[in-house]
Amino acid sequence: MNKQKPTDNLTTEVYASSAMRSAAPTQTLPTQGTTPQVAYRMVKDETYAETRPELNLATFVTTYMDEEATRLMNEAINVNYIDQTEYPRVALICGRCINMVANLWHTPEKEEWKTGAVGIGSSEACMLGGVAAWLRWRERRKAAGKPCDKPNLVMSSAYQVVWEKFCQLWQIEMRTVPLSEDHLTLDPEQALALCDEHTICIVPICGVTWTGLNDDVEALDKALDAYNKRTGYDIPIHVDAASGGFILPFTKPQCKWDFRLKWVYSISTSGHKYGLVYPGLGWVVWKDKQYLPAEMSFSVNYLGASIKQVGLNFSRPAAQILGQYYNFIRYGMEGYKAIQETSMEVARYCHEQIGKMKCFRNYSKEVDNPLFIWQMCPNYDRTAKWTLYDLQDKLKQSGWMVPAYTMPKNIEQMVVMRVVVRQGFSRQMADELLRDIADAVAEFDALKYPTTSRLKYEQQEKQYGKVFAH
Ligand SMILES: *Cc1c(COP(=O)(O)O)cnc(C)c1O
Repeated sequence: MNKQKPTDNLTTEVYASSAMRSAAPTQTLPTQGTTPQVAYRMVKDETYAETRPELNLATFVTTYMDEEATRLMNEAINVNYIDQTEYPRVALICGRCINMVANLWHTPEKEEWKTGAVGIGSSEACMLGGVAAWLRWRERRKAAGKPCDKPNLVMSSAYQVVWEKFCQLWQIEMRTVPLSEDHLTLDPEQALALCDEHTICIVPICGVTWTGLNDDVEALDKALDAYNKRTGYDIPIHVDAASGGFILPFTKPQCKWDFRLKWVYSISTSGHKYGLVYPGLGWVVWKDKQYLPAEMSFSVNYLGASIKQVGLNFSRPAAQILGQYYNFIRYGMEGYKAIQETSMEVARYCHEQIGKMKCFRNYSKEVDNPLFIWQMCPNYDRTAKWTLYDLQDKLKQSGWMVPAYTMPKNIEQMVVMRVVVRQGFSRQMADELLRDIADAVAEFDALKYPTTSRLKYEQQEKQYGKVFAH
């Protein structure tokens, strides 16, 4: 065997280079670099997706955009949004996007430029909405000469992890209303029972990540209005509409969940979920500029221009903003409506077909957003030799990513499976998925012995008892 190290030169083939014959660098920068072709292949080869993105039914994030949108975004890949002296047009386009989102949610604001901000995703947008609510609460408390050291926030236990981060980072007490068989979404009365003079806001969710359902914001607003009147408090609502913000306006325009409601002061959404843009992009809008505390706007003197900035990050990519504006003008109201309704239709079809299978039971009758969860039918579960985790593994073999997971506090023993339908998932693909599920179930039904995951599940069941068993 030839142990001599090869010396690379201009004619060395990519896959004959020394880099390709060595382990990938993991700790220190290599002393010498390599050619663009070799570097590209090394990174590319290591990051091949394990499934095709369109078969990933776990993610909410956009995996399909027009070729023209992709080109536009690639051409802006080196543009930093914050550099408004060099790229004033991008800032303008961002402002137009905020206007369009604000109007989609029926802002009453009459200003030419509506009050909002761009974020890297809903996470940043939620944080900004939460910080604004906290600062407004603190301001009111200070003015009244009351202590402001114990702020709290109220939402359902089916919150997305960003709210846990927000509460940890800003040291705000999180008070959660558990989900139950009778309350598949946030129960307004239970939410109000957790409120007091230290509550900075209530956060209902449109498009709950765990279930796909919408909290009833209108009912909450009504109950909160009576509560605020009775107590003299001014507790507002921030709607986390990460998914629903771009679904409800198109599929249920008459449903009131947005600025048409009295106590909704701010709303956040993910541009990279049903806004149909590649990651990462989020939006937050306030009902009026009076709800955005002055401390949150930083006037930055950057490269000679005075920029007003609201955000946790400084530099951020401009490409996503251009992608969002492209989608708005390319699809228009009608295009978005047609796309979201198609996703809804495919999701409802899957929901119905899965509900018909004797081994499964859907979590809810309704499909509010193009995603849903189901569990094993209690009757079937009694004698099953497999779990939804086995189904998840089986489906992975055909490229599908369909996650199985346990539910939040109070129903944490419940194992469910979720499908998120996005633009790019057609009826024909749904049929393929359903066939793969049916085939897997037939195979599991023939098992003589329980799977490892089943044995583990039964052990846990002995420990905690069944949930939703009847
Ligand atoms: C996805 C999601 C978030 C976080 O959004 P990112 O855009 O991923 O940062 C927050 N809340 C809910 C309800 C979500 O579904």
